[in-house]
Amino acid sequence: MELVFRDDSYAQSCEAEVTSADEQGIRLSRTVFYPMGGGQPGDIGVLRLTDGTEISIVDTRKGDHHEDVLHIPAEGTTLPSIGAEVTAQIDWERRHRLMRMHSCLHLLCAVVTGDVTGGQVNDGKGRLDFNLPDTQLDKEHITTELNRLIDEDHPVAPRWIEEADLEKQPELVRTMSVKPPVGSGKVRLLEIDGVDLQPCGGTHVQRTGEIGRVRVGKIENKGRQNRRINILFDA
Ligand SMILES: [Zn+2]
Repeated sequence: MELVFRDDSYAQSCEAEVTSADEQGIRLSRTVFYPMGGGQPGDIGVLRLTDGTEISIVDTRKGDHHEDVLHIPAEGTTLPSIGAEVTAQIDWERRHRLMRMHSCLHLLCAVVTGDVTGGQVNDGKGRLDFNLPDTQLDKEHITTELNRLIDEDHPVAPRWIEEADLEKQPELVRTMSVKPPVGSGKVRLLEIDGVDLQPCGGTHVQRTGEIGRVRVGKIENKGRQNRRINILFDA
């Protein structure tokens, strides 16, 4: 399966062929649908058949392995036949909001020091948990720093690193809860020029300026050494 979103996070649709379809989900020869992972939700959208019929996709999940993508149809959908040609089209407005928030969480990693113990991107909001025992976190300061990095409009781009080279630079791995996938020889890094560099398989905007205004919401205490910082769009 060709994962179009991995090299081009701005691809909104692609032509593809159905390679399998059952109650588990629909597999395609190639896809723009991002499967849930790394704290980013799976895409929603439609598969359009050549006769104009639309199959509504309500979620996207990983299948049997890392590069296997399952398009989950709405309940009661008539499944397409194997070999059927489809146009796969994501809900772009939602995905773009997820890309903006996901990219912003990378900035948060740069603003707040401390190991990341968890995180989640949602539509319109996001959060990261940090292992910060005794640090006083200043909401206003974090908000100002995030918006400064956004205003500076840094370029954002993926690049690949050999697994062996990553092992030599363990400091690149900020997220203790989400280990980068290993075993394929290469690991995808996400680089925000001069700001942040870490393994990430998600989808991001091309420049930080595209994120737009944000602000820190609640800062919660989630148990021992675990501070949760919530981020919202401030439109
Ligand atoms: Zn990322």
